[in-house]
Amino acid sequence: MIRNLLIASSALALTMLTGCKPEQPAATTAASAAVPVTAANVTDARLLNAGAEPGQWLTVGGTYNEQHFSPLDQITRDNVGKLGLAWFADYDTNLSQQGTPLYVDGVIYVSTAWSKVYAFDAHDGKQLWQYDPRTPGQFAPKICCGIVNRGIAAYKGKIYLGSLDGYLIAIDAKTGQEAWRKLTIDPSKPYSITSAPRIIKGKVVIGNSGGEFGVRGYIGAYDADTGEQAWRFYTVPGNPAEPFENKAMEMAAKTWGGKWWELGGGGTVWDAIVYDAEHDLVIFGTGNGSPWNQRLRDPTGGDNLFIASIVAVKADTGEYVWHYQTTPGDTWDYDAMSPIMLVDITRDNQKRKVLMQPNKNGMFYVLDAGTGELLKADPFTAVNWNDGVDMKSGRPRVKPEARYDNEKAFNLAPGVQGAHGWHANAYNPDTGLVYIATQRAYFVMQGQNNFVPNPGAANLGINMGAGAAYTKDHPDAPRDFVGFLSAWDPIQGKEVWHGETGNGPTGGVLATAGGLVFQGGGNTTKEFRAYDAKTGEKVWTMDPQTGVVAAPISYELDGKQYIAASVGIAATNYYAPNYSRLLVFGIDGKAQLPEPVTYTPPPLNPPELTASADEVAAGSKHYNNYCVICHGQNGQARTATFPNLMTTPMLHSQEGFDAIVLGGVRSAKGMASFADKLKPAETSALRSFLIAEANELKKRQPPVAPPAPIQPADAHAGLGADSNKK
Ligand code: CA
Repeated sequence: MIRNLLIASSALALTMLTGCKPEQPAATTAASAAVPVTAANVTDARLLNAGAEPGQWLTVGGTYNEQHFSPLDQITRDNVGKLGLAWFADYDTNLSQQGTPLYVDGVIYVSTAWSKVYAFDAHDGKQLWQYDPRTPGQFAPKICCGIVNRGIAAYKGKIYLGSLDGYLIAIDAKTGQEAWRKLTIDPSKPYSITSAPRIIKGKVVIGNSGGEFGVRGYIGAYDADTGEQAWRFYTVPGNPAEPFENKAMEMAAKTWGGKWWELGGGGTVWDAIVYDAEHDLVIFGTGNGSPWNQRLRDPTGGDNLFIASIVAVKADTGEYVWHYQTTPGDTWDYDAMSPIMLVDITRDNQKRKVLMQPNKNGMFYVLDAGTGELLKADPFTAVNWNDGVDMKSGRPRVKPEARYDNEKAFNLAPGVQGAHGWHANAYNPDTGLVYIATQRAYFVMQGQNNFVPNPGAANLGINMGAGAAYTKDHPDAPRDFVGFLSAWDPIQGKEVWHGETGNGPTGGVLATAGGLVFQGGGNTTKEFRAYDAKTGEKVWTMDPQTGVVAAPISYELDGKQYIAASVGIAATNYYAPNYSRLLVFGIDGKAQLPEPVTYTPPPLNPPELTASADEVAAGSKHYNNYCVICHGQNGQARTATFPNLMTTPMLHSQEGFDAIVLGGVRSAKGMASFADKLKPAETSALRSFLIAEANELKKRQPPVAPPAPIQPADAHAGLGADSNKK
């Protein structure tokens, strides 16, 4: 096996690294006022000089540096108390909203669940258009972690979108009409797209998801005018019996053993992509290997390039330039896909462009953007799988016991929930701090006996039930999964402050030159808030009636600074309202959200169980083969994203049940027809299994009491829809 190619600096005087301000001249709305009134008139020049237009938000990360930093400074800790809702606009979906909005010349563009896109007039929130790619609902079972979209791109009159079912779509920014669409995936394989495209010199660059199911990862560039593919870079080698696509794949193949290509290998590029204009590089993170468990993927224990890596390719050709593998031989679902930012720093009076990434594996990395040289690697939360990183080789010192097997379990930190997920981080050049939606998470890892790959389904290779047994034997073992905002000093490698701790992930982050950090409370804390960037004091909060996970943005219109946030996470019950909206805030904003309504879930009232134990057992098998990935254990584990099968009226009607499961009458909503997989006798067993489960559940519940209505205050999701596992 080969080592990472980078030559790590052994004695970097990191205390000599000092933050420096990125390019950001003071001009604000004058620039935008001069722009012709053409929708999404974003040119290459504007993208390259986005820092010169601080009143705009032209790309998902604000500028090519993706610092999620707004140079606007009207809203400060002194006047943030007067920040109020200027206007809001409702979405037509009750699922989770992860899309970072764009603001271009008076118009806000934002993507929502089911890869829909809205355009709003920023003056008053009037909807200009909505675009729906009409993704077939039956695509939902191919999505591991929520029917979501994390953002769009604007360029020369068009809005670019990656749809769940793998299309790159160009939309006329003026009319909302589809200009063209191009399929970027092999639809026979379980690929999907949830990430934002990036525009780089006339090309649209995008990757895809699917590493949990088993696919071969790649990133592609497509002509922005026509959608024609310009280049594709695979992140892992294919079957070595066939010719390698390039020298990089030949090199990577030497780090693999076994028959990895049968499940694709993994390494999907499902979120982090940045363009380093100075070095003309596209730099991106890659996901976990498929399956997670390396003993099943590659019994020889190789590094498995380029999974769990940060990779740089030439922007024009997609040709390999450098890589740094954050987790060699990943066996813990340690995607290196957390958002990457570029920061100009000064060392020895020399300007140096570095990239920073708080990685899912718990380490905060600083690399030279031009060469991939490792400059710093520090744990930023609880980490127990390594004893630090050897700065000479760049390799983590992995604890042998962390490489679990089928017998020996390991209580991993960070667990597969990650130290950090897809949520945007922000960098404030004034404080020199990176603001991270940090997580402290434990997860018990143990190999799965008798693993048989199941095409089109989740292929992880671990014993998902290991935690229960482990906890019995180790009652004091930590089991946290909590999130908090932390302010991280990347130069000193230490936390400066952190916010309060809540359950699960917190939201994406925006930093502003007004000395504030805006962030949503995440899945379980119904709050949108602002912190003092220096001290961490919470200086403003509002109740968005739902969870907030998407990164907010800031822009300037008619001389006034605004904050915009896309809010909404799937409610605890699929049918409950979740108040998905775009919220826009300004000083002295006076708009009011309508009062939330209460929702009463249907009662747990299953029919009597008449089926035999054998039939229930057969139904259980079908359930675990086809249903569990979406509906969770016993049909009520993921009721935020999918209906609660314990209370569905279909338990009372085999005809109704079959109309859905075989007839596909709800396929537009994401419930595919399983007629190609299940026979009528089998759906009868399936329904019997659900009736048995519902009766068991009812036995365990206190008798008679009718279900309590869901009050708005607890209309929050569990972890299903917004988990970090992609
Ligand atoms: Ca993953």
